[in-house]
Amino acid sequence: MVQGEVVINWQVTEIIQNNACVGAPTLCAADWVEKPLNTVNAVKAWINTKTGNSISDPNIMANGAYLPAVPTPELPSVSNGYDGPVYNRGTETLFFPSPSENNSVFKTNENLSESTEIVAHEYAHHVQNKLNSGLEAAKASSNANQERWARAIGGEGSADVIAALYEKSIGRPDSDAWKIMDDVLKSSQLSLVRDGTAMLDWDDWSNGSANTVFHDNGKILLNMFYRMQQAGATNDQLIKLVVDMIKTINITTDYNESKFKTFLDTLVAGAMQTILDMVWDEMVGSGGGGGGGVPSAPGNFTTIQFVGCNVYGQTVDYVNWSDVSGADYYKIYWSNSQSMSNPVHTSSPTTSWSYVWTSLYTVWAVKACNENGCSNFGPTYLQIYHWSCQQY
Ligand SMILES: [Zn+2]
Repeated sequence: MVQGEVVINWQVTEIIQNNACVGAPTLCAADWVEKPLNTVNAVKAWINTKTGNSISDPNIMANGAYLPAVPTPELPSVSNGYDGPVYNRGTETLFFPSPSENNSVFKTNENLSESTEIVAHEYAHHVQNKLNSGLEAAKASSNANQERWARAIGGEGSADVIAALYEKSIGRPDSDAWKIMDDVLKSSQLSLVRDGTAMLDWDDWSNGSANTVFHDNGKILLNMFYRMQQAGATNDQLIKLVVDMIKTINITTDYNESKFKTFLDTLVAGAMQTILDMVWDEMVGSGGGGGGGVPSAPGNFTTIQFVGCNVYGQTVDYVNWSDVSGADYYKIYWSNSQSMSNPVHTSSPTTSWSYVWTSLYTVWAVKACNENGCSNFGPTYLQIYHWSCQQY
């Protein structure tokens, strides 16, 4: 985490210095312009790390100042009287309004660029755009049901889920993290707060086509994720699940309640499998022993002694080798050939074993093992004393 934060800070500094900031010089130099970029970088790093995706940077525009550079900056065309917060999927640009704007909805415009929930929500629309072109297309579908489903569940709902989970990941309590828009709306607009803790079910789905309806329907998904968190799902599981949902949902087939459940069933199993794989890789990746993973192969035998012959003319050997860090037990192999196909003894936890009866010349080898598996063979050793035991 510390390293990730260092990288993020470096990115911000680099972009500000080299770019990229196209617009009024005073705005480019203004501290508040950096705020959405800082949060976008942090959200991006968090999502990529937790989900294994590699989502590209969006453009960011704050009052005419582009971060990072876009070849031909275009002023935002917004119809609702303020420059965002909004995501334009065509130019892949997040817009945040000017500090000088004073619209009737938001408290102050500076709040919008530093509010992590708004920045994370808008960045989530970029995630949707980059990960699932079919979902983006369905947001403009001529099929009203599919449009509603794409914009409410794939769009606003999943963007709110990502915003809430991100705020949880940086330590915000439920009372803040699951309430989207609460810290930027003017008091007269507080009814528009999207509160994920408010209990909803699919019967609350509405068939309107206004923007507010898409956000309201999205609250059902937000509440579903809140409920899953309350039921014990972790933040890491839930961010994986929602991003997998964005990535794989097929609006042309998964746009109703029962089909969505079937779709989620597969997704939950897949999300858990991916989390297991990521954790498992961390635990077995080194192969060096001691710190997790398969232990190293044992070195040379320290002792192999011919003890004597038994009454059947078999060799009795005493075998000893050096302990290996990270090994819980050893598999001792002997063979009359070089194939070493079967272990003859499993030793736990001792490092030696005596009284091996072999009837021919014998090649010895040892593997070091733990719960992650066994090492390769260490060096082999040829025991030749057996000839003296042969009975004719
Ligand atoms: Zn949105």
